[in-house]
Amino acid sequence: MNEADSEEMLLHLFGFGYQKTSVLSEADLVLINTCTIRDHAEHRALSYLGRLEKWKKEKQGRKIIFAGCAAERLGKKVQKRFPQADIVCGAKSLDKFPEILEKSSLFNTEKTQDQPKEYNKKVTAQVSIMRGCSCKCSYCIVPYVRGEARSIPPEIILENCTVKAQNHPEIMLLGQTVNAYNYKGFTFSKLLEEVCKIPQVKRVRFLSPHPVFIKEDFYKVVADNKKIARHLHLPLQSGSTKILQDMKRLYSAEDYLQIVKNLKQLGFLISTDIIVGYPTETEEDFNQTLNLVKKCGFSFAYCFKFSPRLGTPAAELKEISQEIVEKRLNILLNEIRECSFNAYKNCVGKKEEILFETKTSGRTSGNLWYRTSAQRDIGTLEQVLIKESNGKILK
Ligand code: SAH
Ligand code: SF4
Repeated sequence: MNEADSEEMLLHLFGFGYQKTSVLSEADLVLINTCTIRDHAEHRALSYLGRLEKWKKEKQGRKIIFAGCAAERLGKKVQKRFPQADIVCGAKSLDKFPEILEKSSLFNTEKTQDQPKEYNKKVTAQVSIMRGCSCKCSYCIVPYVRGEARSIPPEIILENCTVKAQNHPEIMLLGQTVNAYNYKGFTFSKLLEEVCKIPQVKRVRFLSPHPVFIKEDFYKVVADNKKIARHLHLPLQSGSTKILQDMKRLYSAEDYLQIVKNLKQLGFLISTDIIVGYPTETEEDFNQTLNLVKKCGFSFAYCFKFSPRLGTPAAELKEISQEIVEKRLNILLNEIRECSFNAYKNCVGKKEEILFETKTSGRTSGNLWYRTSAQRDIGTLEQVLIKESNGKILK
């Protein structure tokens, strides 16, 4: 989501004549787009801002914009602590970013150029379809810093997808609870169907779906549309129904397993997010997570240590000892490594559809990496036979 937001902000900056560089000494302006999902992410953003003080002093006129979720959470405190930040633009103000630039005395010139519609040269184009989140997961800061869920009108999304599909055969629809999308009765399933109808679109992905919003119409649209990638990143968080209740996730471990079974019947690989060491998690709860992980056979998982976020209900609870959390995390990571290895090994001997992202590599519909020695044009979609795998890449 942050990458997509950064792209939007960059496009506005291009309108003021800026170009992108990854060489700090060449830059006149640094845009720091921040994350606050865990304390660690916020801490890294702030320490980067701290280090930029020296860069700013080295040349007159250098500017810093501190944007995104950490900027939203910390607000004015940022400028007090780090006066080198010229503009602090919180995540909720992203829609007003162009006005903020125009109003700022730092950008006292008129817009110099027509704003390009995109700059990214990757095979995948990201398209935000909603902002914010209306769930109330007990540990999560997102609804506080991004606000209530707002779906973007379908005409805007479809126009955006049509433009982007000219250069990007894969479209990735984005939202915090992407499948909760609903614009005046126009549902997520309907939107998926319409995106698939765009001729230049070869593959459609989306991130992140929430288990509770997966309904029957979704399975039907998927079954009817081969362009929808057979991969779902479906955050689990915990395999214990008791912890899921504490987290206010609105589904049980059994519900989750049933969804996984339904998806597997449609040929899906499933990856996930798991939080280890939620304050009320017992050894037994953790073992239930391990068991569910084994049953689901995930292709991949991001595993996070619980991080208390000030203002969320879970932050009020007494934390588990870090030693126990570390131990559980390591056990889980080992399990996930094995699952991922198996997902790759299971493809050997099968036909897979590859979308080439470089001349010699790409991803399967199930989101596994593939490499070959023969060259293809980037963006080619092709059926291949998988001959071997070392558990990390298909060949
Ligand atoms: N909207 C998505 C997730 C967005 S946040 C969903 O609900 O499925 C991405 C991931 O960060 C979450 O899935 C969760 O695993 C993790 N996360 C969020 N808050 C966290 C916290 N306080 N501590 C640790 N991990 C957290
Ligand atoms: Fe956070 Fe996702 Fe829950 Fe929303 S659904 S509160 S973004 S974890």
